[in-house]
Amino acid sequence: MMKTIGLIGGMSWESTVTYYQIINATVNRELGGLHSAKILIYSLDFAEIEECQSNGDWAKSAEILGTAALNLQRAGADFIVICTNTMHKVVPEISERIDLPIMHIADATADALISSGVKTAALLGTKYTMRQNFYKERLTARGINVLIPDDIDVEIVNNVIYDELCRGIISQSSLNEYIRVIGCLKQRGAEGVILGCTEIGLLINADCSPLPVFDTTLIHAEKAALYSVGMQRGFNE
Ligand code: GLU
Repeated sequence: MMKTIGLIGGMSWESTVTYYQIINATVNRELGGLHSAKILIYSLDFAEIEECQSNGDWAKSAEILGTAALNLQRAGADFIVICTNTMHKVVPEISERIDLPIMHIADATADALISSGVKTAALLGTKYTMRQNFYKERLTARGINVLIPDDIDVEIVNNVIYDELCRGIISQSSLNEYIRVIGCLKQRGAEGVILGCTEIGLLINADCSPLPVFDTTLIHAEKAALYSVGMQRGFNE
């Protein structure tokens, strides 16, 4: 019996599109024929979420995502996938509101890093994901050293996400900046780079990155698809 995946998306919708494509393509790759994934999507208004983030009102964002998760549960989802790294900050609060497991994006990423033998990883994402602990602690708990850019580059990486990628803007100058930042982190000892924001894969990929890439969107979406068809072991959250 295929499980129904409950996606909390819209953060931004640019990357929710990728989740939808990868999950369906993976299910079809595994099952063949006309098979596609069973998916419920609750897509939020990202402007409301971004306002909570910049006001530091994580409680309000937890309320919004918690309500979305509860609606997905009522609609018949078997497990929850949150289509953003940053909003995993409020996973504990969301979990309290539902009886379904949440497939954590950082755990999926840690699995991928460990199976590739990466011990020191660069982390690119929003300033919240790079600077705060909720994400990095999940990786360090699995024995992975995490490097983030210096303060100026944290701002550059963060601003490209909100000012460009979440608005569907892909620019060569921002790609060059990301390549430069990844190059600096490589010099500091990183063996791979975590694309720890679900839109970064729209800008950069393995072909132009100075380090092997661990694209959290692809990793998370593929793991969800494989779990839904019984090809992937379960998870704790
Ligand atoms: N999608 C991004 C992430 O993976 C950033 C948008 C957000 O703040 O949710 O973190």
